[in-house]
Amino acid sequence: MTVLNGSVQPRSPLPRVLPPPLSIGIDIGGTKVAAGVVDDNGIILERLIEPTPSHSPLAVENAIVDVVDRLRASHVVESVGIGAAGWVDNAQAVVAFSPHLAWRSEPLKARLSERIDVPLIVDNDANAAAWAEYRFGAGKGSSVMVCITLGTGIGGGLVINGQLFRGTYGMAGEWGHMISVPGGQRCECGNRGCWEQYASGNALVREARELARSNSPVAYRLLEMVGGDPDKITGPLVTEAALQGEPNAIELLADVGGWLGQGIANLTAALDPDLFVIGGGVSAAGDLLLKPAQAAFDRTLTGRGYRPEARLVLAHFRNDAGLIGAADLARHAMVEPPESGRFGFWPRRRKRGRKAARQRREGLLVPRSTVSRRSRP
Ligand SMILES: [Zn+2]
Repeated sequence: MTVLNGSVQPRSPLPRVLPPPLSIGIDIGGTKVAAGVVDDNGIILERLIEPTPSHSPLAVENAIVDVVDRLRASHVVESVGIGAAGWVDNAQAVVAFSPHLAWRSEPLKARLSERIDVPLIVDNDANAAAWAEYRFGAGKGSSVMVCITLGTGIGGGLVINGQLFRGTYGMAGEWGHMISVPGGQRCECGNRGCWEQYASGNALVREARELARSNSPVAYRLLEMVGGDPDKITGPLVTEAALQGEPNAIELLADVGGWLGQGIANLTAALDPDLFVIGGGVSAAGDLLLKPAQAAFDRTLTGRGYRPEARLVLAHFRNDAGLIGAADLARHAMVEPPESGRFGFWPRRRKRGRKAARQRREGLLVPRSTVSRRSRP
């Protein structure tokens, strides 16, 4: 402090208090579009949920633009991240294929960038969910984390040493389509016997309905809950019945858990992780799913008894992981833009990225995306 003309003058201006940087995360599934404004601690400040309007790419695009406009009306956001139920390239730009929506080589980022004037990225919804669990949820501090999202199918994400592993072409983590039963149940991907046909919400519903249609007396309570119509049995209904102690629903969940544990043992043989995070709608069953999964895992793990075992835990976020992770990935993309053709770990420089983001907000750094980069061979 210096004294000037009898008054105390600050030697330098006080540090500015900056508002937290906000991003919009959008999770696009086969049935709903969930969007939210998310801060840099993974906290959702406002959210919107709309039904996915149809399977037409243009209608989905319109729905995305609409929720972004509505959220930006009351928040200043710096980026938009989209978690899409599809296989997305390493440039986080093109949805190559979606089993549940009509995207086929869809240049989603380019189309949306014409209508949304802040930087945006597109990623796989399960990658986004895995990233949220690693950054803010059950996976914090793990070295090799495998995320398994049990929804209508099985989504997957892999975080190794603080980086999302995306594979050579951006399509790693699709373990739901590893074949568990050769010649088994038909899968939406076109193959038969995929793991997600046995350890997912769809599998739970299919088995429950089949049992109800067989007029088995053990399905009496489930049928009673839906007025006698097997087609009205849903995954959440079976879970609710199981949580109330209905023995048949508990068995159905235990079957799904058994398939889950067996697949987890297979993934352990391939990847040797320290942690499996189990999320998605079916994980609402908690221990009714996790305990049978743990038992099957213990029984089938190769080298069991002579190796440290990965832990199986429930996800911290149930329905919000996709949008929180997509928002956080968009924030990372501001300082480390994804690039096509690059081998698939991204984001890579988490700590430096944070510092750069702070400098950029304070006006000390020009965003990398505005600086021309040397072209790569
Ligand atoms: Zn499949």
